[in-house]
Amino acid sequence: MPFVKYQRGDMVMGRWPGSNLYYEVKVLGFNSGSQLYTVIYKDGTELELKEQDMKSAAGFQSRPRSRSRSRSPGRRRSRSRSPARTTRRSSSRTAAVVAAAAITESAPSTRRDAKLKEAVQVRLSPLDQTKPAENNSNNKHEQKEEKQTEENNTANKVNEVEAEPEKNQSRYNLRRRKDDGDAKQAEAKPEQLEEEEAKLAAAPAAAPTPLDFGGKIGAYFWLLFLPAWVLFVVLQVNLEDPSLVNFPPPLPPLETFWDAQALGFVILWMLFQAVLYVLPVGKLSEGVALRSGERLKYRTNGFFAIVVSAAAAAGAVHQGVDLTYIHSHFLQLAVAAFLISTLLSVYLYIRSRYAAPEHLALGGSSGNLAYDFFKGRELNPRIKDFDLKFFCEMRPGLIGWCLINFAMALAEMKQHGLDAPSHSMILVNLFQLLYVVDGLWNEEAILTTMDLMHDGFGFMLAFGDLVWVPFTYTLQAYYLVSHPNPLSLPALAAIITLKLVGFYIFRKSNSEKNAFRRNPADPKLSHLKTIPTATGKSLLVSGWWGVVRHPNYLGDLMMALAWSLPCGFSHLLPWYYMIYFIILLVHRDSRDMSNCRRKYGSAWDEYCRTVRYRIIPCVY
Ligand code: NDP
Repeated sequence: MPFVKYQRGDMVMGRWPGSNLYYEVKVLGFNSGSQLYTVIYKDGTELELKEQDMKSAAGFQSRPRSRSRSRSPGRRRSRSRSPARTTRRSSSRTAAVVAAAAITESAPSTRRDAKLKEAVQVRLSPLDQTKPAENNSNNKHEQKEEKQTEENNTANKVNEVEAEPEKNQSRYNLRRRKDDGDAKQAEAKPEQLEEEEAKLAAAPAAAPTPLDFGGKIGAYFWLLFLPAWVLFVVLQVNLEDPSLVNFPPPLPPLETFWDAQALGFVILWMLFQAVLYVLPVGKLSEGVALRSGERLKYRTNGFFAIVVSAAAAAGAVHQGVDLTYIHSHFLQLAVAAFLISTLLSVYLYIRSRYAAPEHLALGGSSGNLAYDFFKGRELNPRIKDFDLKFFCEMRPGLIGWCLINFAMALAEMKQHGLDAPSHSMILVNLFQLLYVVDGLWNEEAILTTMDLMHDGFGFMLAFGDLVWVPFTYTLQAYYLVSHPNPLSLPALAAIITLKLVGFYIFRKSNSEKNAFRRNPADPKLSHLKTIPTATGKSLLVSGWWGVVRHPNYLGDLMMALAWSLPCGFSHLLPWYYMIYFIILLVHRDSRDMSNCRRKYGSAWDEYCRTVRYRIIPCVY
């Protein structure tokens, strides 16, 4: 039987993968097959570690490097009962990283330590315990922590590098309070603080990320299924009776799939959008801090781009250009876009092989070609300042979606000899136009979404942005061209109300989170309750994000319903978006839940206990 050095329940120091930082961990077990220990960190993260990455807590303290720390004036200061020390000791993993950095590095890191400490101290402000009513953190959480902090003050002579996220974190509110004396300082440098946080987060970033979408086998499935599904719905929608019973739909001759002119138009469209994107018009917005601490700049002139595109489309129609070409060549245009997205994905995959590790997305480097090609490896591939992911996410597909809808309205008028589009067509056009225009008006908000912050750029997003969005989100308008659906006045009013309510929820909740992530010290958000987390970021636990865990998804789903209703109930096809969107958002929610659970550990559990429902209050 192999010798097992550490036993279940032992508290030892475990190295965080990919770093030289050690944290206190509890041994949960030993796998004799893999020779790995399963350990749990104080924030709830479970990992498997090799024996050489673990040290006994006593041995760890007696390492020569700790000597310099223990004798440094800095440390003596930090042992004092000053608020500064208390702040630092209580700040969970963020503080632990600061402390561990002091151990594992020498002179230069002492400076870094001091700098980071300063950042953390600005961010952490002890709550005034004489005014519990003003406490803007979660009450239950706070009360528990008050008690534990008292215990800690007397009994806890712990290792200096020990992170104490669960015991102490809630005594301190990571958000600036209204009456905080450091208010100005905190407000003045939110971006700088985020950079520091990103640096602090570099160690956890090395943790292995589980594979999404069914892993390696799933990637093969999606690579085949997604294009096949687009082909299926595009062929179906042209049938008089589009129904799943008609599977497989009659395939047109092979040569009809290809049209060089259609490819030319798609390329022209993309070039046109690219030119609008690079024009020095509009704001240069900063993205969130990357793992390297860097913050990329993005030209957020999407609203300008859609206005110019609309003017160009109107001008073209005025000049006699027949935009119903888009309706009659829908299949060929979709095939051309598919070709471009595939070539782009190949390019992205190849260039990602040469990208620096810190530029790769977590979870996009499984080593399996199909999975990495599908999921995307590089987080922010750029050609000079041209950000390929941001551009594809926000421009050709989104604005193309509106152009296609407009062309469908013209096709409906042409096909039925109408002077104006039907009410249903107008609703679908206006609703979806509002969605896109809003997205472009608030373009900066996309910088804090999962796609931009976490996902690599590969086939999944390239295909999604350039094919899926413009050629399947337009199905309702396409369907209405040959399947008119007159609406009564009450139905019209009900659908419009649903759309507006959904839009309100969607916009307000997204803006709230975006504003909070951009500047947690924003005085406009000071009424909101928050839960601090071990990473230094907090979670909103009141306002929209206290109603359900994804209020933005709720609003989005209500809007999706309002887009399908104008098409009536004769066929399932125009409901495709609604059905797909439920699946997408439920899956996205669970993906986000696991990511946040990994990132925030026990604080996330606390959030989930407080906000019980995921998307629909009292239902789901
Ligand atoms: P979110 O904008 O909801 O972002 C999720 C992230 O928000 C989490 O990873 C976390 O990131 C942060 N977060 C979660 N809970 C909290 C909280 N309580 N307090 C503060 N921050 C929190 O997700 P998506 O990117 O999926 O969606 C963005 C929008 O795009 C949504 O409105 C969605 O409906 C829409 N969408 C539309 C699609 C379409 O095809 N029409 C497709 C996908 C999305 P962190 O803590 O790291 O900041």
